[in-house]
Amino acid sequence: MDKIIIVGAGLSGATLARLFADNGKDVTVVDKRSTIGGNAYDFVDKNGITVQPYGPHIFHTKEKEVFDFLSKFTEWNAYEHRVLANIKGKLVPVPFNLTSLYACYPKAKAERINKILTDEIGLGKQVTILQLKQHRNAEIREFAHFVYSNIFYKYTRKQWKMKPEDLGSAVMNRVPVYVSREDRYFTDDYQFMPKNGFTEMITNILRHPHIRLKLNTDAGSILSFKDGKIYFEGNEFKGIVVYTGRVEEIFDYKFGALPYRTLKFKFKTLNRPSFQKAAVVNYTTSHRFTRITEFTKFTCGAKDKTVIVKEYSRKCKKSDMPYYPVPTDANYALYNKYKEEAEKYKNLYLLGRLANYKYINMDVAVLNAMKTFDKITEEFVFEEE
Ligand SMILES: Cc1cc2nc3c(=O)[nH]c(=O)nc-3n(C[C@H](O)[C@H](O)[C@H](O)COP(=O)(O)OP(=O)(O)OC[C@H]3O[C@@H](n4cnc5c(N)ncnc54)[C@H](O)[C@@H]3O)c2cc1C
Repeated sequence: MDKIIIVGAGLSGATLARLFADNGKDVTVVDKRSTIGGNAYDFVDKNGITVQPYGPHIFHTKEKEVFDFLSKFTEWNAYEHRVLANIKGKLVPVPFNLTSLYACYPKAKAERINKILTDEIGLGKQVTILQLKQHRNAEIREFAHFVYSNIFYKYTRKQWKMKPEDLGSAVMNRVPVYVSREDRYFTDDYQFMPKNGFTEMITNILRHPHIRLKLNTDAGSILSFKDGKIYFEGNEFKGIVVYTGRVEEIFDYKFGALPYRTLKFKFKTLNRPSFQKAAVVNYTTSHRFTRITEFTKFTCGAKDKTVIVKEYSRKCKKSDMPYYPVPTDANYALYNKYKEEAEKYKNLYLLGRLANYKYINMDVAVLNAMKTFDKITEEFVFEEE
């Protein structure tokens, strides 16, 4: 057996495996799924449309290092993501900006709000809903309330089944209003989609003579963890295990399951070239689903068919796919108990969104894998060395 076992062939595991392999180390990557790429997995359907079965994934980053790394494994199509919110039938750009303001309010009122925002915050700047809610001017406070309830409140209830206030305060603090006509969802320097999809990109990352890939293999069937020692097929394993699955699995859920939200996806192929005005439309005031994504909008080239997916969020049961960690202080405290257990294992490293119980974008997954590579290289001494 190789001295490095990585559990999970998602972007976190694949990136780390590649970094070791490029440094001459043999790595075994196991994944319980029959596919690579974790939740970023995509495939081309019978109509030639790239579909992302675990939800829409759009690549964006500020990190040149991440972009340069991934660019070795894919060509890119430029793609700037724009999202519309369906507010009682009216489509407005989100994050909420000056265009949205004029779409939602009569002109004279929009002009007054625009003037205060522009004079006090500044054109091109961002302000949070929380700040606007505390403004001295009643019209601005009413505006903040409008954005909060029509863009944020019901959407958050659907997504988390919680009030926004009950989520970590960081969530509330982050909701921006753009004092500009900026209607891109992300403002990062690098915004691209891999030309032939994420699966091809991640396949290329994993394609290396030092990487052995074992799909359809649950870590639980080959690894066990007891009293600070890791066992591989019953024998003590002195190499490194990097775990990107749920941290609770390692310890038989002894402190209980960490709460997640799961998603139910309803896909539909339609006999028309286009379904909606943007790749993603959020339903912020109506319907049970949170949003509709139209995959053909991510790729170049018109087709006579299109594929859409509606997303429904619900509490994650043990048999469900865990998607979003629920960001509350109590859940983080529970996570920390598992983290402390994991720290008793000198050759165990936790990596990725499940093992760290933290929502991360794909660029952060890559960046964290790079940091973990540096950390392991610095501190771990392989036995024969
Ligand atoms: C709905 C949704 C939309 C998203 N959209 C975006 C987006 O637009 N842009 C963006 O940058 N990011 C997006 N993300 C985040 C993105 O999915 C993550 O950044 C990325 O998946 C992290 O990769 P990972 O390898 O850490 O985890 P994962 O992709 O979850 O991979 C973990 C892998 O480990 C495997 N595994 C788990 N347990 C075991 C086990 N016991 N044995 C063997 N294998 C195991 C799993 O099968 C999986 O393949 C989105 C996430 C969700 C949920």
